[in-house]
Amino acid sequence: MGDIVEDKASFYSNAEGYWKDVPPTVDGMLGGYSSISSIDINGSKAFLKRFLGDGEGKTGTGCALDCGAGIGRITKRLLLPLFQTVDLVDVTQEFLEKAKSYLGDEGKRVGNYICCGLQDFVPEARRYDVIWIQWVIGHLTDDHLVDFLHRCQKALRPGGLVVVKDNVSYEGVIPDEVDSSVCRDLGIVRSLVARAGLRIVHEEQQMNLPKEIYQVHTLALR
Ligand code: SAH
Repeated sequence: MGDIVEDKASFYSNAEGYWKDVPPTVDGMLGGYSSISSIDINGSKAFLKRFLGDGEGKTGTGCALDCGAGIGRITKRLLLPLFQTVDLVDVTQEFLEKAKSYLGDEGKRVGNYICCGLQDFVPEARRYDVIWIQWVIGHLTDDHLVDFLHRCQKALRPGGLVVVKDNVSYEGVIPDEVDSSVCRDLGIVRSLVARAGLRIVHEEQQMNLPKEIYQVHTLALR
């Protein structure tokens, strides 16, 4: 993708500019597809629950990190109901501000609101049981994604999981000039995960999405 993203500085600044103009709503987070939010969250809940619990090899429920969290759509309905504490990181300050009211009373259990690009963000070592990364990897260059995933691995507690849930193309890398992102095929995503030194422990396709949008796949990594 180094070839496709010729100018890294404008790849990131154009994306930041795009998101600054998006309304801080569920519809804004989902590009007008707020109708799929429940399907998405229910699929994620079923995906995650197979890993959670007590005992050997299980993933704890102490602390989760929501990456590219936006207003906290996933934090509100998936992570806060399952984890004691949730941290949010996003590059758009206005979305994090909105999250403080959008999350309501349960938002008291948010540990940190962090305004930072994932390409620059260093999560605290061994803090997280789950690091959730959804609908944001297309905003990172290959090298930055590899490095970020590697930092995430170091931020996991024993038994912890990194989950990537995102659009995948049928073949190759498809640029989106509007929001300054790319969509990669599953083979490319898998090879970047391998380069980061993580192992895919489970993989699923999100079913019941509209026909006209990209396929969405969920990968559990550790
Ligand atoms: N994951 C959330 C939001 C998806 S919208 C959900 O599924 O509801 C994409 C989000 O990624 C936006 O909130 C945008 O501000 C954020 N974003 C875009 N580029 C980013 C970057 N480089 N680092 C961190 N966040 C980024």
